[in-house]
Amino acid sequence: MNRTDFQDYLKKDIHCSCGKIHRCEIDTILIESNALQKIAGILNENGYHRPCIVEDIHTRDAAGEKVEHLLIEAGYAPQVICFEDDFLIPDEMALAKVITEMDRNTDLILAVGSGSLNDLCKFISYKMKLDYMIIATAPSMDGYASNVAPLITNHAKVTYEAAMPKAIVGDLFILKEAPMNMIAAGVGDVLGKYVCLMDWKLSNLITEEYICHDVMELVDTAIEKVMQGTGKLLSRDPDAIASIMEGLILSGIGMSYIGNSRPASGSEHHLSHYWEMMALLKGGHIELHGTKVAIGTICGLRLYEKLAKDLADPSYREKWSSEVTELDMVKWEREIKRVYLDAAGSVIDLESKSHKNDATEIKKRKATLLVNQETLLTWIEQLPESEKIADVLKMLSAKYLPAQAGVDRQDFIDSILYAKDLRNRFGILQAITDLGMAKRYAEELAAEFYDL
Ligand SMILES: [Zn+2]
Ligand SMILES: [Zn+2]
Repeated sequence: MNRTDFQDYLKKDIHCSCGKIHRCEIDTILIESNALQKIAGILNENGYHRPCIVEDIHTRDAAGEKVEHLLIEAGYAPQVICFEDDFLIPDEMALAKVITEMDRNTDLILAVGSGSLNDLCKFISYKMKLDYMIIATAPSMDGYASNVAPLITNHAKVTYEAAMPKAIVGDLFILKEAPMNMIAAGVGDVLGKYVCLMDWKLSNLITEEYICHDVMELVDTAIEKVMQGTGKLLSRDPDAIASIMEGLILSGIGMSYIGNSRPASGSEHHLSHYWEMMALLKGGHIELHGTKVAIGTICGLRLYEKLAKDLADPSYREKWSSEVTELDMVKWEREIKRVYLDAAGSVIDLESKSHKNDATEIKKRKATLLVNQETLLTWIEQLPESEKIADVLKMLSAKYLPAQAGVDRQDFIDSILYAKDLRNRFGILQAITDLGMAKRYAEELAAEFYDL
């Protein structure tokens, strides 16, 4: 696959067949060897005078220090804000640190890092109307080009609107030296698109949610780029690293075209967000975002495989057509309080606005699903087998089971049942709830993953 010419995607109105005009407001995307050498020039061309570098102790070693020296050499006097955290959590405290310490006359936030640093800086950029650029230190997640920032606020994982970077700079010499688990996490974040695109199609079919086939195709290209790169990743081949990074950026562009994370985040992300919240609430180890998404992808694919098997079984079709699925909402609220602890309030609030679990909504969705079961079966058959995705992860020595990410059996079962309640976004987790199958599938998967 050839290198991507990002200029084709940026700063132009795309009048799409979906009826919308898509546009991505990033000026420059530079993924090449020695890209760092061009940073001072990019600042100069765009008229920035007072950059503030935001980094942490890891990204300072990887690139931050070098960026600082290059800017000083070019006549700048950059401010530097460095997080001392070993594992930075993008929460209120982290936001406050940047805002408190940043000079008032800063005219550009220069984030040096990946997931959390990128999310913090793009959110601050949006809130303070202050431009930002990202110097990527790892191809570890797809948020570089997106206009959303998942943050931890009030103990919950919430996706906020955020600014687009003016520039994304990825120096292949730096990206290829990223820890292998971070590179594998980037692969995982993109593999998740198999589940998320399927969820989107499913939602369009069942709930008539808006869909854009051109953006789906763009995200498909991102998957292809990443799958093509995986073979040579272990040797840190620069072309393979570039392919992963380009796939991640294309996926982010897909989100910015739509204006939210729908093209890149489905049930696999809800599972990942849920597991992260549990780790935060209970003080457990926090895994990389993409690592959890990869595991969520295996779970999502297994759920689709289970659904396909039962859809092909006439006795199930009969049962689903004749039985009424109803959620006991008193019990549901009790369960939400049990599993979400301090974050239960926002989950219950969301339900009171969306009514996604109302009996009438479930009945309607279930009936539509049953009418379209043949279409659904054909689509599921086109998904890659969960085993094939697990093999890719194993080849990269990446984690592929929930327990490997510190998720215990009970949290795993709860996540299949309640991760969907974090968002009002239809996907496989809500579909199996609508069919009354969520509990059984959760227990079967737990047996598969935990009772080996
Ligand atoms: Zn479109
Ligand atoms: Zn993601």
